Amino acid sequence: MKHAIITGSTSGIGLGLARQFAQAGYGLMLHGLDPEGPALAQSLAQEYAVPVHFSDANLMHPEAISTLIDEAHQAFGSIEVLINNAGIQHVAPVEAFPAAKWEAILSINLSAAFYASQAVWPHMKQAAFGRIINISSAHGLRASAFKSAYVTAKHGITGLTKALALEGAPHGITVNAICPGYVKTPLVEGQIRDQALSHKISEAEVVEKIMLVKQPIKSFIPVADIAALALFLASDAGKTMTGASLPIEGGWTAQ
Ligand code: NAD
Repeated sequence: MKHAIITGSTSGIGLGLARQFAQAGYGLMLHGLDPEGPALAQSLAQEYAVPVHFSDANLMHPEAISTLIDEAHQAFGSIEVLINNAGIQHVAPVEAFPAAKWEAILSINLSAAFYASQAVWPHMKQAAFGRIINISSAHGLRASAFKSAYVTAKHGITGLTKALALEGAPHGITVNAICPGYVKTPLVEGQIRDQALSHKISEAEVVEKIMLVKQPIKSFIPVADIAALALFLASDAGKTMTGASLPIEGGWTAQ
């Protein structure tokens, strides 16, 4: 059996990834801060008949990240897939951008992916097999105003993905990033509320006039489509794809 650690998998895209990896027969380390995490782990284990462990390690702290990886390795004996998915967002003009939000976004969206990759590396290297998948964003390839920290962190993920792909190549470790456009998750629902307040327009207008303006396919990206791409990257057929930042964003970055 193969095993996957998916950070931030108690909600949104991460939970969708967890569901599809469990369905595909992976043992899972479910992870995140949502209080329903342990119950979600239990129900996934029952529904898909795979082992599911749970961790609420706070990714702001590098030592908690190494404990998360150690726990998964102790529980499973091998870690084939690491999906660095957890992320947060804050939308504000640069002059009003709170320093604490800048630090938190850089820590959770960028540094945590580095520390988690560093901690799984020796296990993957020893097994001569590993798949690291970073859930980046269209904002890893393009910028938007008022998202300085998020755009910086996600562009950083593009660089980290390339550098680790080069280091992993001799060891059977591939490293890729998936760059989704807008997906309707709690993170995006929060942004819709914030944008409605800052632009003084309705939430429906935010979706139509702001959010999906850059997304030529005028609908949200289904989580299941992102999970299908991640499963491909994790599969044997993904073995020669590495260092890529793959857009799945309804044509956003074609512009
Ligand atoms: P979400 O808010 O639904 O879930 C975020 C997850 O991260 C949760 O499980 C949460 O508990 C966890 N998390 C947050 N802070 C944490 C911390 N300090 N320590 C540990 N866990 C923490 O978000 P989502 O929309 O599913 O986003 C998941 C990823 O996808 C993020 O990296 C995000 O940038 C990226 N993304 C999202 C969209 C979108 O439209 N939703 C688009 C492109 C990329």
